Amino acid sequence: MKEVIKYILDIFYPNRCPFCDDFIKWDATVCDKCLDSLEYIETCEKCGKTDCMCDKELYYDKAYVLFKYEGIVRESIIALKRKNGINAAEFYADKLSEQILKSEEKFDAIVPVPMAKSKKKDVGYNQAFVIADFIAKRLEIPVVDALIKAENTIAQHTLSKEDRIENVKGMFSSGDISLKGKRILLCDDVITTGSTVIECSRLLKEMEAEFVAVALAATTDLRNGS
Ligand SMILES: [Zn+2]
Ligand SMILES: [Zn+2]
Repeated sequence: MKEVIKYILDIFYPNRCPFCDDFIKWDATVCDKCLDSLEYIETCEKCGKTDCMCDKELYYDKAYVLFKYEGIVRESIIALKRKNGINAAEFYADKLSEQILKSEEKFDAIVPVPMAKSKKKDVGYNQAFVIADFIAKRLEIPVVDALIKAENTIAQHTLSKEDRIENVKGMFSSGDISLKGKRILLCDDVITTGSTVIECSRLLKEMEAEFVAVALAATTDLRNGS
């Protein structure tokens, strides 16, 4: 039924590629030209960075990362933060799900990196949740809001690298559930310094998760971001 609605909607609001804005088939998420131009990145399997940061205490055990945060990937993620180009979220989720299935790791639940309630009210949604939701459908596992983002935290990108590490402490807290023995997939759009996913993973392990892997659409080159 959903598919039929999507097909009919397409007549009135033609489906577009989130990267180049060209018209695409009603059931596609990206055009062939952009699909061919996207280059997958090779990162450290554990930390998900090209410049390995496994010397840090990560709290997560594995990382799935698709692309470098640049060019059309960067533009699509910025657009997604402004509630544009849901196709990009579905595309990233499809590709992450393929990687996860190929790795043969099994997960009990997917946890999106949370957004503060007030911010969610402004934007209308959390882009990490949108990607997580699509992955959850592919892997047939539930989305669990296991973490809470504190209100009025200072935006990571306004701070220096050292200040970000301090700032992230206390930015998140754990929800009132136990993840004892569970294998968790933590989902976010971009990894930069890793301080956000590290802190979220620390909390998930504190909630007794047995294994935590992170799923990310993109990574920056350097360890200078959130
Ligand atoms: Zn395109
Ligand atoms: Zn590494």
